[in-house]
Amino acid sequence: MNSTRLEQIERLARERDLPDAAFAALLTGLTPEEEAALYAAARAACERCYGQDVYLRGLIEFTNYCKNDCYYCGIRRSNAAAQRYRLSETEILDCCAQGYALGFRTFVLQGGEDGFFTDARICRIVSGIRGRYPDCAVTLSVGERPRASYQAFFDAGAERYLLRQETADAAHYARLHPPELSSENRKRCLWDLKEIGYQVGCGLMVGSPGQTEQHIIADLRFMQALQPHMIGIGPFIPHRDTPFRDFPAGTLADTLHLLAILRLMFPDVLLPATTALGTIHPRGRELGIQAGANVVMPNLSPAQARGKYLLYDGKICTGDEAAACRDCLERRIASVGRRVRVSRGDCRRGRSTAPEPEPRR
Ligand code: SAH
Repeated sequence: MNSTRLEQIERLARERDLPDAAFAALLTGLTPEEEAALYAAARAACERCYGQDVYLRGLIEFTNYCKNDCYYCGIRRSNAAAQRYRLSETEILDCCAQGYALGFRTFVLQGGEDGFFTDARICRIVSGIRGRYPDCAVTLSVGERPRASYQAFFDAGAERYLLRQETADAAHYARLHPPELSSENRKRCLWDLKEIGYQVGCGLMVGSPGQTEQHIIADLRFMQALQPHMIGIGPFIPHRDTPFRDFPAGTLADTLHLLAILRLMFPDVLLPATTALGTIHPRGRELGIQAGANVVMPNLSPAQARGKYLLYDGKICTGDEAAACRDCLERRIASVGRRVRVSRGDCRRGRSTAPEPEPRR
């Protein structure tokens, strides 16, 4: 049995795909030896494409107002205990100025689905950033919008968009969301973004309530069809003021296994070691990098805001200043023998494998 799983890991590394039953076997428990083989194969695949580089993205959480009521999320509209905030356009640009001085060349603007930020406002913010910092990439993560809005953001200069599918299985999606939200529309958004020309990031929470191996396999098949440039995964973590308060968090092992499987399936994908992973284990992000991840996203939000962008309990990095956050992550990455890159770090799909030279800071 053990040798069978080791063979499956080798086959996955070679063919980037497995039959469902073999994926299920890798997702339902590995011996320490199998685990080590999986992570080593994932690290090797990452290194062939990206060398020793780990990319830093500056994350700006610009609003926690949200019109949606996702059962897992701490900033859902029904959570009356959440202290709401939104950053002004000036505050957002100030975050970018601070981030630029720290060397960041990618800004990720993430928020709840906040009607205050109309298409026109988002476009003005995006073009404001691109105008001031033409050498920087802007990534948006503002949820589901009509295709015309995505097109307008793209035309304003946003080149990347993060929108996790959360789960590719419609029934499981309905277990995690109220009836007005659908898996079908979520996927429609992802396909629209792809067709418009964005570098698209999808993803899911590991261990969300009701999730089975079969659901994860459906996610893997969906991602094979979508061919995303980025995949964001992290453990589900309960939030005390949500309907899912009593469900257990996803585990470190399950998250690391899935990160490694994704690296082997999609060798050139940008794969973050997420804050949620760092929250369930003190060295979660370092372990994520050792399992095949190659992106980390230090927080650039102003200190008074980041303590309020609480999607789940226990979120780390809610007190640090941007510079401290960057230094801390740089040290963590160096501790696992890797090198921080702040350049735009586009997905290396179809490009030569030699790492790009880093511009001097
Ligand atoms: N409104 C945007 C951004 C959502 S927040 C959007 O719809 O895409 C980013 C991600 O955080 C979500 O996609 C979800 O996967 C994750 N998240 C939300 N609540 C969480 C929780 N309790 N535990 C772990 N991750 C969570």
